[in-house]
Amino acid sequence: MFRFITKNPTPQQLAMISAVNIGGMTLIAVLLIKLILPSALAWWMVIAFPLISFGSSYYTIHESLRLFIYRKIKLIYKSIHRLKAPVGGSPTNVNMRDHIIDQVEEEVVEWAQDWTKEIKLLKEMEEYRREFLGNVSHELKTPIFNIQGYLETLLDGAMENPEIAKKYLKRANSNASRMANIVEDLGYVSKFEAGKISLDLERFNLHELAQEVLEDMELSASQKEIKLEFKDRNPKPLWVMADRSNIQRVLINLVSNSIKYGRKGGKTLIGFYDLDKNVLLEISDNGRGIAQEHIPRLFERFYRVDKGRSRADGGSGLGLAIVKHIVEAHNQTINVRSRADVGSTFGFTLQKA
Ligand code: ADP
Repeated sequence: MFRFITKNPTPQQLAMISAVNIGGMTLIAVLLIKLILPSALAWWMVIAFPLISFGSSYYTIHESLRLFIYRKIKLIYKSIHRLKAPVGGSPTNVNMRDHIIDQVEEEVVEWAQDWTKEIKLLKEMEEYRREFLGNVSHELKTPIFNIQGYLETLLDGAMENPEIAKKYLKRANSNASRMANIVEDLGYVSKFEAGKISLDLERFNLHELAQEVLEDMELSASQKEIKLEFKDRNPKPLWVMADRSNIQRVLINLVSNSIKYGRKGGKTLIGFYDLDKNVLLEISDNGRGIAQEHIPRLFERFYRVDKGRSRADGGSGLGLAIVKHIVEAHNQTINVRSRADVGSTFGFTLQKA
């Protein structure tokens, strides 16, 4: 009969419908009594009785419904509030009686949205963990199988020939070093990703540190006939506030990449640029360069442009991921410009001191 009012009536609407019914029936009853026994009721009673029965039934039904709903959803509501409370904190104090019906819909929607976000995050972490484990086992598989192969060949008789024995032992050793590199870099990356690395900030001369790194890399550069130089022949001291040993690691990774992926007889240049509050350091090479489609993924763990070649060069595929972590831990930025067969420039900023 009252379906036209609404499909999901509120407690007020339900109470109103029932009260109108009861009031209407009371009106009919008093009118009948007045008709049969006119002296039994005064006219004011004919008006007052239906009104009183309408008002009292509206109030009783509305309150009973409210109480009924309140009891039914009280437990659910309490659990939601407990789950919504911040970790370690106490649940928010809500006046359940006054607000429960008005707030519950809003609260449940909010709660559902929070959990959807949480579930999405957990799924992403699970995916990340699976991918990470897959990558690690893939990276370690090759050197382990290589070592196994060389040792088996030695045991099968190659040991008798000192020349071959030396060659295979050297190869097994270089595979073991590669594994050690991967494991060391992995430890470093996971410490960063778990937020376990705290920076040891100090004031130091960036130019002096870069000079030390270039001197340390001189030997491997000369093997590829690559020249390592500063853009400015007489650079001034450049004082920065940063973690010296971590920045040294960044420089070693970038300069060694410029050699690894540089061309024979090529050049690596280091330039410094003054940017008001920061210093920009750029390392450029004229090596094999990187095609544009690889640039967005370059700083991802284990991402390599030329997979076979990088592994053969002994790279862990984690160098640039570590570089990015270190620079970002300083609240600074790293960028790369590169063109295939022309060369690459990696640049990062540091705060001046
Ligand atoms: P890897 O251990 O493989 O060198 P990195 O994280 O240091 O790992 O580098 C990721 C990939 O980026 C490398 O495999 C290489 O393909 C590319 N790359 C890095 N630096 C250079 C560069 N200076 N020139 C060309 N390619 C580079």
